[in-house]
Amino acid sequence: MQDKLTLERIQLLHPKLRDEAGEIYKAIGEVLSGKAACRFTSTLRTFAEQAALHAKGRSAPGKIVTNARAGTSYHNYGLAIDIVLLIDRNGDGIYEEASWDTKGDFDGDSIADWMEIVAIFKQYGWEWGGDWRFKDTPHFQKTIGYSVRQLLEKYNAKKLIPNTNYVNI
Ligand SMILES: [Zn+2]
Repeated sequence: MQDKLTLERIQLLHPKLRDEAGEIYKAIGEVLSGKAACRFTSTLRTFAEQAALHAKGRSAPGKIVTNARAGTSYHNYGLAIDIVLLIDRNGDGIYEEASWDTKGDFDGDSIADWMEIVAIFKQYGWEWGGDWRFKDTPHFQKTIGYSVRQLLEKYNAKKLIPNTNYVNI
């Protein structure tokens, strides 16, 4: 399944990662068959979006959802992807369910679908949030050798790709 939202979100990634993310998405589509598909739920999160998220439960109503301030997440530079599995339980071609189950084998090939996706991202040199001490299993990032601090310095110094908000790396 070629998910339209995912294809649109790939175009929001840092220009350096767009083609690669497209290849990753294609490879995922080849290993997931039948009842499971993958959607990229979040790629670029702009500084403004991150600031609004951080304000939740602080200066804005609601519960706290993140500790990351604007500029401290790889998403803010278009260098991260969050995923979810889409499941078509009855095989009617409609993916009616979202799943964050990292152990489920919905496509019936005896390998957990989530881990099939993890393996593909890792082949391309991406880091998986599921390997961290404070696990973030839907999250993948490719740092290209830069810390968020270095990226933030570039951003603040306006070292950007001309006419964009993407840092020039
Ligand atoms: Zn993430």
